[in-house]
Amino acid sequence: MKKWITFDLDETLMQNPFGKWVFPEVENLVSSFHIKDGILKKIRNEHKRRMDQQKLRDAYDWDNIIKQVLREEGIQLEINIESLVRKHSIPPKVYLLEENLLNTLDRVKQKGFSLGVVTNGFYKYQFPVMESIGLADVMDMIVTPCQTDCAKPDISMVKRLPGEGEIVAHVGDRLDHDVSFANELGIQSILIDREMPEEMRKLAPVNRAQQTEYVEKLFKKGIYRDLQFEKKYIPNIIIHSIYELLEKEMS
Ligand SMILES: [Mg+2]
Repeated sequence: MKKWITFDLDETLMQNPFGKWVFPEVENLVSSFHIKDGILKKIRNEHKRRMDQQKLRDAYDWDNIIKQVLREEGIQLEINIESLVRKHSIPPKVYLLEENLLNTLDRVKQKGFSLGVVTNGFYKYQFPVMESIGLADVMDMIVTPCQTDCAKPDISMVKRLPGEGEIVAHVGDRLDHDVSFANELGIQSILIDREMPEEMRKLAPVNRAQQTEYVEKLFKKGIYRDLQFEKKYIPNIIIHSIYELLEKEMS
């Protein structure tokens, strides 16, 4: 039976073009209109509002969000985020977060795993990036909210795997989306912390999650706002690089 390892994309494997290229261009396109606090603030607020309402899928529908914001501001302008993403999905604007990442992923495959992506980003925004940096070729499946109509941490994301097999581990950078998703599925939850302190790096990946002080610090990151320290958010394994998936203590 196929054994799958699934991966998150943003902040885990790749840098998307939104923050540095797509959103600044949106800002430019509306620069002749007066929008109180600026369009990016409006976009962020609408994203957050949808997140707070647990509309996780809609929160990542950037074309829909921008359409709504422009309508609310009375601006008659068409902005197509999908085509802006395509335009800016060219290295070095987009890149892999690790040197030799494709090679590392290939070696994980050689150990007998199939590799998949489980992302909350829409297919039309993620695939052009994956394609331009070579990730599309190493991934055997891509799961996005477009096919599933839900988003992580909802485990319905992987209710129907294309093809046979089972997921044995999920790797991601967020405690609330990735780790809790994996824990609820009852598979290995692997957190990637690229800013891991030196003294933690010396420990084996399986022992890092027992370092209470370190794990508590991870909860204090700004992105989590009021996330409570709960068992479902605690990863089984913490790595600082995808390369660590190849190490002996991992398997
Ligand atoms: Mg991520």
